[in-house]
Order: sequence, then C-alpha cells, then structure tokens
Amino acid sequence: MCPSESEIIRFAAGELPDEQRTLLLIHVDQCPDCKRRYEATLATFSALADWDVPASTRDCTPVILARVRRAAFIRTAVAVAASIVLASSVGISAALITAPRVAPIAQNRPVPTDQQAALTLGLDSFDGETLGLSAVFSPEEQPQ
Ligand SMILES: [Zn+2]
Repeated sequence: MCPSESEIIRFAAGELPDEQRTLLLIHVDQCPDCKRRYEATLATFSALADWDVPASTRDCTPVILARVRRAAFIRTAVAVAASIVLASSVGISAALITAPRVAPIAQNRPVPTDQQAALTLGLDSFDGETLGLSAVFSPEEQPQ
C-alpha cells in the first residue's frame, strides 16, 4: 500500500521514526509512482530552502500595542456602561416605587418626551424603540 502525501512529506523532511523510514525507503525504491512523489517533494523543499524572503522593514509593534490597548479600553468602557445602565435602572425603579403618584402634568411641569428622557440618561434613541450607548462606542466598535 502506498504511503499518504503526509507520510511522503514527513519522510522527505526526515521526520519519520527509523522503522517507518526504513519501510518507506524500501517502498519508494520499488514503486515508481511514490519515487516520483518523493523526489518532487525533495525538489520542493530544495526550492523553498533557496527562496530568500526579505524581512519586513516595517515595525508593526506600536500598531499592535495600540490595538490591544484600545480593545482593553473598550472592554472597560462596556463594563462601566453596563454598571451605569444597571445603576440607572435600579435608581429609576426605586424612584418609580417611592415617588408620589402625581403625574408631572398635574403639577404643571412639562412631561419629558422619550427622547428627552433618553438624553437625560445619557442614552441615544433610535426610532424610539432601541436604546444604544453611542456616546461610548463609534458604530464599528459596538458590541455584537
Ligand atoms: Zn507507492
């Protein structure tokens, strides 16, 4: 039975254990198809060894570090924003529970619109249905 492509590659790279290597040597010597595959793999390795790839002259370290710091900042901002929203929700709930049951309109005070309430809480309203924290995130950075 002929060896797999992976075995031929490991054989050519000298990565096979001695026993397996001996068996493959015998097989390759007797099987013209595998001998051709083995020699083609050796030729490829030789060409790759001769390939001189110039090293990059650009130092990417500052860009990578900036992105890591930015990601860490966003995670912190999400945690803080979530805490603020939670605390606001608790505060609003407490206010609703303990507030006197007199509507602002009955006190001649203007009733805030949903938009004004959202602005007061630091939230933005989208179509009156969805609230988002656009002050914290630019559009491409909003969490999924
Ligand atoms: Zn073979």
